[in-house]
Amino acid sequence: MKNTQIFTIHDCLKQRAEMETAARAIRDGKLVVFPTETVYGLGADATNADAAKNIFLAKGRPSDNPLIIHIADPDEAGIYAEVTESYKKLADAFMPGPLTVILKKKDIIPAAVTGGLDTVAVRCPSDPVAHELIRLSKKPIAAPSANLSGKPSPTSPEHVLHDMNGRADVILVSGDCEIGLESTIVLLKGDEAVILRPGAVTYDALCCVLEKVSVSEAVTGQLKEDERPLSPGMKYRHYAPTAPFVLLDGDSQKVLRFCCERAKDKDALFLCFDEETDAIGKDFCLPVGPRDDLRTQARNLFSSLRKADTTDAKIIYGHLPPKTGLGLALYNRMIRAAAHTIQEIK
Ligand code: AMP
Ligand code: MG
Repeated sequence: MKNTQIFTIHDCLKQRAEMETAARAIRDGKLVVFPTETVYGLGADATNADAAKNIFLAKGRPSDNPLIIHIADPDEAGIYAEVTESYKKLADAFMPGPLTVILKKKDIIPAAVTGGLDTVAVRCPSDPVAHELIRLSKKPIAAPSANLSGKPSPTSPEHVLHDMNGRADVILVSGDCEIGLESTIVLLKGDEAVILRPGAVTYDALCCVLEKVSVSEAVTGQLKEDERPLSPGMKYRHYAPTAPFVLLDGDSQKVLRFCCERAKDKDALFLCFDEETDAIGKDFCLPVGPRDDLRTQARNLFSSLRKADTTDAKIIYGHLPPKTGLGLALYNRMIRAAAHTIQEIK
């Protein structure tokens, strides 16, 4: 157990002492939890192999699941990776922001960070605390989500303190994450971008910048037993609550009728839309947001999955999201949490 220093940051430009302490910890090869606009990250100096190895240990993360490196300025990517024209276009359009780009790595990034791959994932977060931490530390920061491996990513101070108090050296908290789902990850193949993980930078937004954009089959489908995904993280069990999680697909009125009937047995929990709570009964509901508000649903998803785990529900139901816009990111996280269990309601 580490003696974790915890700082609540209200203004990272004014709280110099706290920010300097965290930046020094990064330079000293220690582990620092920090907020980003997507989810909280567990960071260490990305040029220090031993520091990076400690991230895997603290999370219980398999060492072949590579880390994303976080930089303060998109133009710095060239120090750590081979930058291409497509990267520059994406950086101009979406950085700082919730987009990660996979590029050929340079030697300065140790294999421990990239799980032995010759590529590295690069992202420039827009969150001011994240930005200031990277800038002050003068290091690229390797950081996966700050959850214990297999658990939903942390989106609130409560989640990070639950998972990382005693495991990280410093924890910076600054409220709930704005987006609540991890970054979009794209692999660049010449002028083509392949979405390996959907996020708040959507397929449509990427199509406005690059001519060829595709979505990896692993985003919506199920991997075969011995299949090697382009993004190693895709093969691991993720986000799943302890009770079975089932996604309901069908006409909205019919799905609501099913939920109301099923609620009578009092053993199920519903990750429902706000407007359905009264009909189903609020004791059995974890409302995730209004039906038409995917942003709120995205912000609440991981928190709801964590809350679901603290109940004694025998089964958890949710709505199958659309595969369009931000819905694709929700779909990807939810089908994985549900181990691809979809029940069609006719
Ligand atoms: P996390 O940091 O927990 O959001 O997870 C990072 C994700 O990025 C994982 O799914 C990794 O498999 C993926 N990733 C990181 N680096 C690479 C890379 N070089 N190639 C493909 N996927 C990567
Ligand atoms: Mg993660």
